[in-house]
Amino acid sequence: MQNATLWRGLLGVEKTVVEDIEFDEGEQLLVASVRPRKRSRGRCGRCGRRSPGYDRGAGRRRWRALDLGTVQVVLEADAPRVACRTHGPSVAAVPWARHGAGHTYAFDEQVAWLATQTSKSAVTELMRIAWRTVGAIITRVWADVEALHDRFAGLTRLGIDEISYKRGHRYVTIVVDHDSGRLVWAAPGRDKATLHQFFDALGETRCGAVTHVSADGADWIATVVAARCPKAVRCADPFHVVAWATDALDEVRRLAWNEARGAVGGRRAGRATGHAKALKGARYSLWKNPENLTEKQQAKLAWVARTDPRLYRAYLLKEGLRLVFRLPYEDAVEALERWIGWARRCRIEAFVKLQKSIVKHRHAILAAIEHGLSNGRIESVNTKVRLITRIAFGFRSPEALIALAMLSLGGHRPALPGRK
Ligand SMILES: [Zn+2]
Repeated sequence: MQNATLWRGLLGVEKTVVEDIEFDEGEQLLVASVRPRKRSRGRCGRCGRRSPGYDRGAGRRRWRALDLGTVQVVLEADAPRVACRTHGPSVAAVPWARHGAGHTYAFDEQVAWLATQTSKSAVTELMRIAWRTVGAIITRVWADVEALHDRFAGLTRLGIDEISYKRGHRYVTIVVDHDSGRLVWAAPGRDKATLHQFFDALGETRCGAVTHVSADGADWIATVVAARCPKAVRCADPFHVVAWATDALDEVRRLAWNEARGAVGGRRAGRATGHAKALKGARYSLWKNPENLTEKQQAKLAWVARTDPRLYRAYLLKEGLRLVFRLPYEDAVEALERWIGWARRCRIEAFVKLQKSIVKHRHAILAAIEHGLSNGRIESVNTKVRLITRIAFGFRSPEALIALAMLSLGGHRPALPGRK
């Protein structure tokens, strides 16, 4: 065919013979008939080993390629089967697409790049594919990236976390490298068996090289870490500890609100008016860090201090705990002791309970401060994975969610085709 080299370039294919180009008026589709070059022919699609022919397979097949301008493009070729020594009868490998895929390499790479860079609707509308298809594509792209890179090299300080999605019905366990800030590993589930999978993958020698592990204080994580990395220092991620305090404060605020609207003591809940309404509006003033409060929110906080001393004490307890993490180690040890004594005597149930957890995890909390683990990185990866779980809604499998998270945050973002 004339201009075969030009067409190979336009279609973004290698080791491929372009036999013919046709424009299908009815389907508004450019159909490129292709075949693998001689040296790429007769290889098993799964392992690439040269194998004798088996049969003609299911005849002609099509692969979606990148659009040319506004026109959709497909490659069309025979899809014969070979008799692989290991895999038996298998569809022969093609140099333009992954085994079993209905899209070319270039198409896959572009979708993976877009999925890690832009919104769900941008990917699906631009590429004219369903979100489910995006899920299948990123899963196979990640499988190839994973096979190429050793993501466990040089790991010493790990952060382990669990993230809930689908309104708390599903979980993923994630492992982050404190030093690079990369997501190292993720898997569906949150139990000991899930975490053991990670340490199995890491291998015994590398488990021995781990010096620090931070987590949210969950017993299942602590148990597995103690078994697999007995020498590692266990730390509590400060942002989880502060989140516990925020939850306790919220419990106190809700109680105050319910009392104000008369829902406590068997009476029917009245309409939220006056004090109750004002309390509800105080939510953000109580949650935010004081240095970030607007003037209006500061006024609200002053109002809480005047009208609800108990709620205000709860607020001060939360802030007190948050401040412990900003102190140098020696001061933090002392401040944490004082905080524990204060909370124990505060007569606010939620904080008395919180104090018990803090005592239980005291060593891990102080270890995090002493060893200066970069809490911010774990928190930021945690936040980003949370966002990914939201857009990953609609993927058929959790594998696609994991693939999107790993491609986005694992330090090996897909490149755009033709620009490596
Ligand atoms: Zn094979």
